Amino acid sequence: MKYATEFRDPKAAKAVLAAIARTADAIGATREKPVHIMEICGGHTHAIFRYGLDKLVHEGVEFIHGPGCPVCVLPMSRVDECVEIAERPGVILTTFGDAMRVPGTKRSLLQAKAAGADIRMVYSPLDALELARRNPDREVVFFGLGFETTTPSTALSIQQAAREGLTNFSVFCNHITVPEPIKALLDDPDMLLDGFIGPGHVSMVIGTHPYDFIARDYGKPIAVAGFEPLDLLQSVLMVLRQIAEGRAEVENQYARVVPEHGNPVSLAAIEDVYERRPSFEWRGLGEIDASGLRIREKYRAFDAEEKFGIGYGAGPRQVAEPEGCACGAAMTGRIKPTACPQFGRGCTPEMPLGALMVSSEGACAAYWQYGGARAAAE
Ligand code: SF4
Repeated sequence: MKYATEFRDPKAAKAVLAAIARTADAIGATREKPVHIMEICGGHTHAIFRYGLDKLVHEGVEFIHGPGCPVCVLPMSRVDECVEIAERPGVILTTFGDAMRVPGTKRSLLQAKAAGADIRMVYSPLDALELARRNPDREVVFFGLGFETTTPSTALSIQQAAREGLTNFSVFCNHITVPEPIKALLDDPDMLLDGFIGPGHVSMVIGTHPYDFIARDYGKPIAVAGFEPLDLLQSVLMVLRQIAEGRAEVENQYARVVPEHGNPVSLAAIEDVYERRPSFEWRGLGEIDASGLRIREKYRAFDAEEKFGIGYGAGPRQVAEPEGCACGAAMTGRIKPTACPQFGRGCTPEMPLGALMVSSEGACAAYWQYGGARAAAE
């Protein structure tokens, strides 16, 4: 398969691993004093574990798992609000499958569905739009969730609804942005980060320049990476070489997909439909300035928060994390998932306490799926 097979070539991988080992040795990285490289994206975390890259790279390279799983960083209060909307009479709530099992304080969307709420899984916001066309007597709400990767498709569905004059379609907007939480992590004196692997899919939309501040203001290297094993290994090597040469730059390993200036059509749709919220709450990171998007005034008729009087318009609510859960620390790379006291005990994929255990991009799910269950048992 073009663009996949050649990026899984074992011979090439061995050569890159040898180069990583030489560079790690040259900069004095050891198991005791490793180089900390944060992979921002949850998709990268899963790829690292799927291909065993954490075990293949030099022992002086430590992967720190970042907050790039949009379902995981959603605070429980927003899940609660989404359940509340779904339980309103006449509502059809539509969502991506990932969000169905994310626990709220009282129940998940899946549990609300079992209790009678009309909640349907969709693959695109355009599916939700079609449901609204076919059900003019019902309110169809789309659970808009995700980073810059999914933000444009939600924007396009709102623009289309406006063109068609649909009055029974709205979006519960939880779209968030990648650069702001990275800045929050870099400002945290407890975080020891030496470099970053930048998210491939997000960067396809926003390009590479939004990361300039990481190199310019914080002196940290970053390589935007693809999702195949050789993509990730090459990006690790790029970061290590920058450290070895005393450079801090934004490099683009995924140039076959990521344009330097992003996707102009997607960026225009985002600009047209959304504006920044003053701040947005992130699970594990708290409120971060300008890190969330809301629907602009001209499309306010499609804003479920306005329509149902719920969410930030009605005042943000704070909800405590379940007792003993370390989601915040695991999500920001402060601890490994297996260090959470609940991992494999009070929290499993069947009975999750936190979103990191159920999301396809969650770090706890990655550890569980690729050997963590065994680790928990041991
Ligand atoms: S194991 Fe469960 S409770 Fe612990 S950090 Fe992971 S998702 Fe959260």
